[in-house]
Amino acid sequence: MYLSYANKFLCGNHLTRSVHKRVGNNIRKYEMIKGKKKIGVAISGGKDSLTLLYVLNELLGDNRKIEIVGITVDEGIRNYREESIKNAQKLCKELGIKHYIYSFKEYAKEMDEVMKNSGSHPCSYCGVFRRWVLNKACKDLGVDVLAIGHNLDDTVQTFQMNIMRNEPLRIARFKPSGGIVEDDDFIPRIRPLFNISEREIVAFALYNNIDFYKSECPYAEKALRNPIRKFINEMERDYPGTKFRMLNSYLSMLEYIQIPENIKLNKCKECGENSSKEICKRCVYLKEV
Ligand code: SF4
Ligand code: ZN
Repeated sequence: MYLSYANKFLCGNHLTRSVHKRVGNNIRKYEMIKGKKKIGVAISGGKDSLTLLYVLNELLGDNRKIEIVGITVDEGIRNYREESIKNAQKLCKELGIKHYIYSFKEYAKEMDEVMKNSGSHPCSYCGVFRRWVLNKACKDLGVDVLAIGHNLDDTVQTFQMNIMRNEPLRIARFKPSGGIVEDDDFIPRIRPLFNISEREIVAFALYNNIDFYKSECPYAEKALRNPIRKFINEMERDYPGTKFRMLNSYLSMLEYIQIPENIKLNKCKECGENSSKEICKRCVYLKEV
């Protein structure tokens, strides 16, 4: 593949080596798994999450002190998630990794139901429910850290979205490693693919025969992320290197964002999970839908 940002061509072997190297460097530089024994990997069955599971297994699979488990959240989206779960199950089986499925049906509300009652911002509900369910799953399973498959494109899109929404604390929360508040009840997240582009991940997955699910969520077209993705991709096409420059701006800005000292987590009065307010967003949203 041709990497316009670096003005070079990579064959499959070199791309594979390069991805391994960058993920390894990220893990070391950001101390992503320092002192951690059980790593959960959030796997949807798509290219990013399955590539992440595959690479982490390559890098850490022989380390007997570390256990990797796959966690899939079933949001209750017909003709979509039940298919992608099969891809997640397949790779876990091939790699000998335990796989757990947690569903919105049990812990929140299925997205198909949410759409019947309140169809305008599906991803807002889905994101809040998913974060809650993943944290619950990690605590249930005794996971020390949760790896998420966000790639370079996701990172810069989220950065741009948070600027447009004037949410500086969310910029701080979406770090390569950890969040803004440390709390035993909140399982920290790591993003080892944060500086690897979507194109490289697709090529990596195809070259390494990772059987990933290729369709999009039927509700994705309503997401604010879409016009932002289009804009950033057009900028990258016309000005190669834009995504990396945005990433570097984001990493520099992280150093300057001051986290208010009085941020502390309460326990939600309804569900007992962590919340910055009296009632957590998952419980507020559950009532809305
Ligand atoms: Fe959920 Fe939106 Fe992603 Fe669909 S696109 S799975 S609704 S967050
Ligand atoms: Zn709650």
